[in-house]
Amino acid sequence: MLLEDISAPITTLAGIGGKTARHFHKLGIRSVGDLLQHYPRDYEDRSTFTSLAEAHATGKATTVATITLMDYIGKPSNPVLRIFINDGTELAALVCFGRNFLSRKFSPGMKVFVSGQFEMRYGKLQSTRFIIEPYTESPKEFGKILPIYPTTEDLPQTILRSAVEAALRQYLPLLDDPLPPSLLAARSLPPLPEALAAIHFPPDRDALTRARTRLIYQELFFLQVIVVRAAMKRKTQLQAPVHFPRTLQERLRRSLPFPLTPDQEKVLEEIYADTTSPRPMARLLQGDVGSGKTLVALLAALPYIEAGHQVAFMVPTELLALQHAETAHTLLSPFGVRTALLAGTLQPAARRTLLSAILRGEVDLVIGTHTLFSDDVAYRNLRLAIIDEQHKFGVSQRARLLEKASHPDLLLMTATPIPRTMALTLYGDMDMSTIKTMPPGRKPVRTHLAVLGKEEKVYTWVEKELEKGHQAYFVYPLIGESEKLELRNAESMVEFLRRRYPRWKVALIHSRIPDEEKERIMREFMQGKIRILVATSVIEVGVNVPTATCIVIEHAERFGLATLHQLRGRVGRSDRQSYAFLVYSPDLTEEAKARLRTMKETTDGFLIAEKDLEIRGPGDLLDGTIQAGHLRLRIAHLTRDAPLMHEVRKDVEALLARDPGLLRPEHTLIRTLIERTDKEPAL
Ligand code: ADP
Ligand code: MG
Repeated sequence: MLLEDISAPITTLAGIGGKTARHFHKLGIRSVGDLLQHYPRDYEDRSTFTSLAEAHATGKATTVATITLMDYIGKPSNPVLRIFINDGTELAALVCFGRNFLSRKFSPGMKVFVSGQFEMRYGKLQSTRFIIEPYTESPKEFGKILPIYPTTEDLPQTILRSAVEAALRQYLPLLDDPLPPSLLAARSLPPLPEALAAIHFPPDRDALTRARTRLIYQELFFLQVIVVRAAMKRKTQLQAPVHFPRTLQERLRRSLPFPLTPDQEKVLEEIYADTTSPRPMARLLQGDVGSGKTLVALLAALPYIEAGHQVAFMVPTELLALQHAETAHTLLSPFGVRTALLAGTLQPAARRTLLSAILRGEVDLVIGTHTLFSDDVAYRNLRLAIIDEQHKFGVSQRARLLEKASHPDLLLMTATPIPRTMALTLYGDMDMSTIKTMPPGRKPVRTHLAVLGKEEKVYTWVEKELEKGHQAYFVYPLIGESEKLELRNAESMVEFLRRRYPRWKVALIHSRIPDEEKERIMREFMQGKIRILVATSVIEVGVNVPTATCIVIEHAERFGLATLHQLRGRVGRSDRQSYAFLVYSPDLTEEAKARLRTMKETTDGFLIAEKDLEIRGPGDLLDGTIQAGHLRLRIAHLTRDAPLMHEVRKDVEALLARDPGLLRPEHTLIRTLIERTDKEPAL
């Protein structure tokens, strides 16, 4: 049996009823398998003993002692039990606040285990935080390393521990090891049952280290099997050679009012080399907000279109789809390229007409959200899939778009750079292109911080910009009022801002506004009829209105760094000086302070990504990418474990080189796990 297959609900374990189970559910633990993979966040080492005498210096002791005396202190109406112990090195008092019941279990003369934190009081060692247990041959909480689990207030460690103990007792003997014995031997890793037992209840420090390494290795192993197999598959699936002419590309370039930046030129060549190669393209294009990725993507699409192929351009929001569709239409229709927006708002009849045009090949470039891979969408000859803001999509969504054709070329774009170590191991089979330089004439956005209460200055500044004919965004963390949070919200602030700026048209946009309405508002904002756009973070990605020069983000402390950076990227899109105002509430957490400081200090997206990683760890950054399907990293840590990842990769490459189909009997379990992960195919 595989660990992942232990689906029996936790209520099947002795001692866990419906009420307790609900507390477990809050931790995401439903099955016994979940419980066994709920790894400790820390340990308390009670395997080694330290005497009371040592507590003078360290403040802690774990010892075997004898009870010398028991008495009560405090008011007679509210007595508190006191237990005196002596371990041969020193005397100490245990003050039992709220634990007078201990008098029933213990008496003077008894030998006991005691562990606690001690301090000097009135010249004597004393503890109020301790645990005590009668001395026996097989103590419950002494002589071992005890696990400390991530938990909630309702679920004490003791209940978690005994649940895990019960689960181990029942299931360890049934557990199969997915890793082949040869690999375990070569890397001196313990078998799964041993590792699982030791991660929860380590007999000693060494065993714990070996168990951890083994479990981390296993998670990275499956991650790499998927990445390496995808790479191998791509290498073998060669495309038919086609001549991809660049006449259209050249003509569009010459018609542009500006030259491409050197980085744009370089990337375009890298992509064209992939285009003409028989190996399907898998390229990740990283470039900071405003660096001109959209234009590169459209130029890159032209050789495909000229050669008679179709291109799909997928973006995360309707708003962005609309905007890209307009850009594409403006730039490409003069050359006879047929572009279409597969909007979510299309009426059924219009949608049917468009879908049949796509199927007949009467559309060259289709732009849309995840609607592009809906079941009813079929392409005549899709050869290139472009995915903008790729980090907003999960692995399986990207894969589903690719299923719309046999091995189309894939161009992923992102303004949220993936730190190098991670890029290498996760996208190790992808080629990378980077646009570092901005189009000439861009002035870095000036960022100002303002504490709530001082925002009037900001509003006045914005007024001056509006008077110059420019436009502004105001961003809020909430759409409407919230019962829980006392925050400014978009709906009430739009009213305020209409009164504050009576001369200009102010509009509200957020995810609950119907799509048609959103389209109308965006169009009027692009045309400059609407001068102030009040929004939530829906405008985070991609929105490109060069005449907008101000963005005011209120309650800026509530946004993550990546989002703040993306939001700021909505301005500074022309040669006009732009401004970002981050209005924050007082009482900032240290983390929030660090985020705001970073925003003030730099506009470099790569630097910000590294800072982000530093401040909050890599977890969320990768959520969409790998936390899909069976692949959840519960113990491995992509940056910390990067060195091991390289080793694992070598092992996986060697294994798959020898046995690509994983056909040997010793690989049966690996294959089973992979077949399941394949249902959510990786890129
Ligand atoms: P992003 O990389 O954020 O997707 P966009 O593709 O939206 O950036 O480009 C931002 C703006 O820069 C657009 O208005 C675009 O027309 C303009 N732009 C792109 N390339 C250049 C260039 N080489 N010179 C001047 N402006 C450019
Ligand atoms: Mg973009």
